[in-house]
Amino acid sequence: MAKEELTKECTTCGAVFAISPEDVVITCKYCGATFDVEGKKVPDHQMLPTLKEKAIKENTIKFLQKHEGVTRALDKQAVVEEVKLNYIPYWVCPFKSNTHYFGVKRSTVTRTRTVHDSRGRTRTETYTVPIYRSEEGDFQRSGREKVIARKHTVFYGFDNFEKKLKLDSIEGFDFNKIKSLNAEFINAEVDPVEASRQSYGWVEDENRRIAGSKLYKLVRCDSQIDMYAPIYVHAPLWQVRYKFKNEVYKVSIMGDSGTILKGEIPLTLGRRAANYLAGLSMIIAGAFAGQYGLSILNNIFNTSKWLGNALMILGVAAIVLSFLLTRTAFKMQLEKD
Ligand SMILES: [Zn+2]
Repeated sequence: MAKEELTKECTTCGAVFAISPEDVVITCKYCGATFDVEGKKVPDHQMLPTLKEKAIKENTIKFLQKHEGVTRALDKQAVVEEVKLNYIPYWVCPFKSNTHYFGVKRSTVTRTRTVHDSRGRTRTETYTVPIYRSEEGDFQRSGREKVIARKHTVFYGFDNFEKKLKLDSIEGFDFNKIKSLNAEFINAEVDPVEASRQSYGWVEDENRRIAGSKLYKLVRCDSQIDMYAPIYVHAPLWQVRYKFKNEVYKVSIMGDSGTILKGEIPLTLGRRAANYLAGLSMIIAGAFAGQYGLSILNNIFNTSKWLGNALMILGVAAIVLSFLLTRTAFKMQLEKD
């Protein structure tokens, strides 16, 4: 059977474009209209603002300058070959919750007692006893959870992207403002119902954790949680590719702040060889010191135990260091964030 290509017609401009079968919210790359699979417009589409391409390139160069200790003249010889902007979708899920909890609280009291010793003398002694009592309480909590609207995401630096993703400074989605950037709009694979359900679970877990932290033992925790309609947000993630000595390396950058999320730094052959030699000579030195070090030193100084111990520690440190050095010797590049 021939594989059928899945396409969608934009409900606003009529353009037809390919989508993936898992897409549940779709953004038209020609006009920015955003709708669900049934063609219903997404009501509150927002975005995080982004820096311009020039600033992204400048940040890339700054990042390369920072790691010149690893590869000399990196920023001067590196050529930025490609700068690409992806807009990644996520859901912002507002909530309000009321929690009632019940459990056991533990405290201690200090008491005194009189002690008689074998000679018939008495003295007083203090001691503590634990006291358990039941306790209940309430608290309210409101806020917003964020849920990445993708299930299978393969963007370079994505785990850091998720951590740095902000909930404030979002603004109305404005296609005209960003269309000159040639961005790719990534479609959502997670619908708002699923995002809400996931957020609900997180809110409940967090309430339980808070209640538990107030008590010795949590017996019951009931949360009344109201979830409000999730807001659909697109966040900018830049992918930069640069060339250095005929090899291509990646850097990924957060669009709103310009923060480097992750980047590859080349290790030149000279650098790797130096690491390897340093590692190897340390292994040899360590082995030699282990074998003969103590007897040589004992002959010279005519002592002692601490010298042997110190030597042992040094030997272990040398082996660990040489392991690290030889390991980087076999890597073609480093990863920094
Ligand atoms: Zn369109």
